[in-house]
Amino acid sequence: MEITPRIHSLPAQPAFYTGPQSPNVFLVRDGGEGALIDSGFGDEKSVRERLDFLKGHPDVRVRYIILTHHHFDHASGAKQIREATGAQVTLHPAEEKFLRDWQSDIPQDIEVPGDQKAIAEQIQRFRQQAAEAAPEVLVNDGDTFQVGALTLEVVHTPGHTLGSVCIYIPQERALFTGDTALGLGTVAISPPPHGDMALYLQSLERLKSYDCALMLPGHGQAVHDVPAKLQELIDHRHEREAQILHLLADGKRTPQALLSAIYPELDRRILPMARRQIEAHLAKLETEGRIARTGDEWVPS
Ligand SMILES: [Zn+2]
Ligand SMILES: [Zn+2]
Repeated sequence: MEITPRIHSLPAQPAFYTGPQSPNVFLVRDGGEGALIDSGFGDEKSVRERLDFLKGHPDVRVRYIILTHHHFDHASGAKQIREATGAQVTLHPAEEKFLRDWQSDIPQDIEVPGDQKAIAEQIQRFRQQAAEAAPEVLVNDGDTFQVGALTLEVVHTPGHTLGSVCIYIPQERALFTGDTALGLGTVAISPPPHGDMALYLQSLERLKSYDCALMLPGHGQAVHDVPAKLQELIDHRHEREAQILHLLADGKRTPQALLSAIYPELDRRILPMARRQIEAHLAKLETEGRIARTGDEWVPS
């Protein structure tokens, strides 16, 4: 699907149970060169559909597969697309150990309850595939790639994960945000060492300083009013933080008590994610000296 003449979205039917939140993969192209932003899932059907799309553009040589972060919904297709295209995979160094460490218990974008064995096994396969996408190029804040006449600037935006990056293209006034800013809903932020709420809010503030008319998120639709969307995401976190402070003052002092008060009817599939999100807020408030911990309880200080 063409978004602009130089930015396309690579379609794939939702291959997993992500529904409307299936991951986006974008092709940036100019002057016979191309770069993919993320690679999507690594199952045979997703990869085939995306490679078929690239075959439909034989004039484009894909030079890079730029992974916004290590999560398997973004990285597990990269190995096979690299083999088919000869592109180089890029990643921020802070993501590399999490990408490689596929057997550990690192939070991901998609989680399953323990009784859903088939899905859990598929997730493990995706994580192994993501680990095999081991990057050829490590990228840091301010690094740039040239794709034809387009400049792709790496913006390090820690928060969702510590090595999450966004890609800014000034010639298109376009910003690819991975999971740092979604088109729909809010993304899970884990407490340290996997994520960081304070850094996340700083990253969103920083993104507001870029001149953008188009935001291409890792999940969901393109966004055209970028400053308003970024502000909405910042406001949402501040409101949640205020709610947590209020509940703590009201005697809801454990993550579990906060979880029940904030999300009384949450789908059990996403409860662990919601709990981590609350813990991420608590970690931020503790670092700022606004709350203190005794055992499993938190109190305003
Ligand atoms: Zn994701
Ligand atoms: Zn993610």
